[in-house]
Amino acid sequence: MSDQQPLNDPACETPADTTIAGFPTGAADVPLLHVSGLSKAYRLGQRRLPVLDDLSLAINAGELVVIMGPSGSGKSTLLNCLSGIDVADAGSVSLSGEALDYAKEAERTRLRRERIGLVFQFFNLIPTLNVRENVLLPLLIRGAVNPADRARAEALLVQIGMDSRGDHLPSQLSGGEMQLTSIARALIHGPELLLADEPTGNVNPRIAEGILETLAHAASTEGAAVLMVTHSPEHAAWADRVCFLKDGRIAATLEQGRQRDRVAPIHQQLVSLGI
Ligand code: ADP
Ligand code: MG
Repeated sequence: MSDQQPLNDPACETPADTTIAGFPTGAADVPLLHVSGLSKAYRLGQRRLPVLDDLSLAINAGELVVIMGPSGSGKSTLLNCLSGIDVADAGSVSLSGEALDYAKEAERTRLRRERIGLVFQFFNLIPTLNVRENVLLPLLIRGAVNPADRARAEALLVQIGMDSRGDHLPSQLSGGEMQLTSIARALIHGPELLLADEPTGNVNPRIAEGILETLAHAASTEGAAVLMVTHSPEHAAWADRVCFLKDGRIAATLEQGRQRDRVAPIHQQLVSLGI
């Protein structure tokens, strides 16, 4: 997939405060995503289960950041609180310097439709829509799909190697192809922030590589901030930075610099944190 045409001109190494293909990438000195003091506990009857505890995190435009942590450590909770699927108890989140107001449901919905792309472990495709329609769905929900949108959808299908599958229903795809489709859907509206929860968890190594290339490409070429959860040190090695979630906050950070063959320090950090 590395030989696919990029969606935008790779030569446009634009400064961070300019716009790529109409999508703002944030001012140079403001992280695209800024999370401060995020806390979240679930309540089960009388019991209170603290999950996130005063968590802070910043991601710049163009950065691919990986979150690792034990099962049940709150990785999905973190992503859900950032996308507005769930609501944190305390803390603040801003995108490109703009504080997000999660209190209003309409605001949370708008956020997901316009500024954030979501990739889930189990794809969540609409079974009655074909691949092309699933990819275009976020724009169809907004109401207007123009020829440029359709062209972007086709370019994304080419990029993920799915251009011959546009007419297939999800039931006519492999699991890996479903995940690739869901990634194209998450990118169709050019999100500023892409949240991917174990996107490589249920696919074969070849598809996983295509997914990682697509996420890295979205960061590098479109200026998205990408936050990906994975349990795989090999997949985490694609990141600019690896953050280790433990006891509700980021317990350690590794500057990885997308050195894919530098996996040992990730293993070491997992061992030293007891993850
Ligand atoms: P991870 O993605 O790191 O595996 P999650 O964020 O899914 O972890 O879950 C963190 C903890 O919160 C887990 O112990 C889980 O059982 C609990 N949890 C998640 N969602 C809910 C919920 N809706 N109600 C109660 N507890 C939940
Ligand atoms: Mg999870």
